[in-house]
Amino acid sequence: MDVKSLRDQFLADIIKQYDIEEARSFFYILTNKILKLSRATVAIHLDRILTAKELFHFDQAKIKLLAQEPIQYIVDETEFYGSLFYVDSNVLIPRPETEELVDWIIKDHLGVKEKLRVLDIGTGSGCIAISLAKNLPGADVYALDISAEALKITQKNADNNNAKITCLQQDILQLNTLSMDFDIIVSNPPYVRVLEKQEMKANVLENEPSLALFVSDDDPLVFYERITALAIKNLKRSGNLYFEINQYLGEEMMQMIKNKGFDQVILRKDIFGNDRMIKVEKSK
Ligand code: GLN
Repeated sequence: MDVKSLRDQFLADIIKQYDIEEARSFFYILTNKILKLSRATVAIHLDRILTAKELFHFDQAKIKLLAQEPIQYIVDETEFYGSLFYVDSNVLIPRPETEELVDWIIKDHLGVKEKLRVLDIGTGSGCIAISLAKNLPGADVYALDISAEALKITQKNADNNNAKITCLQQDILQLNTLSMDFDIIVSNPPYVRVLEKQEMKANVLENEPSLALFVSDDDPLVFYERITALAIKNLKRSGNLYFEINQYLGEEMMQMIKNKGFDQVILRKDIFGNDRMIKVEKSK
């Protein structure tokens, strides 16, 4: 079978469950991974004959896609802020909203001369910590997570990206103080309430780690409250705290952070127009 017939067959099968644009993008992610052909070069290799092994890989991927497995887990990787990250079902797939948060932090610290000490809480794949380590020259970056399995992936991603970070396995809810002070504390903790499950797609619900996603309906800010309390103690003067947040809880978040004693709190929307990020400035 050649690439053209493979493509036509693949798309015909996949569009039973996905729209055509999404189906096409899956096909090109797979040609890139399996055939090492980018979207732009596939067109000039349509008559290339596939080996049995290549066909087998496409078939396996198709079965997984039809079973709602996210493409990022199928190919074991995704791009985030210009770098490649290994991902599997032990970590959340990095989202574009989180790239916006990272971009905010980097832009805020461009040209800062001092060596910054940074802490990412609930690091997962390490996408935030590693992107900051790569883009804030000389920064000392610490990446904390409760999950040992996730931290293995964080370390693997740091190595693959030549980024030097320090991984810490810890349950943030058990910590009353941090062992040092930081210039930047950032977190994208679990924030989806159980009541919001009905809004979520099957591929997220059935594949991504619940540990990284969900909080109880009656205590949805549990992680933010703890992290804000830690920031009161362990953020340096003029340091900043950044959060990715639940789009429905922007006002509650602002209030909670102010009640804990911070008065400079900025709420920002993501590209989709949802309240998604918060920056807290510690006064001098
Ligand atoms: N933004 C993610 C989602 O909607 C949730 C991330 C999180 O809980 N920190 O699936």
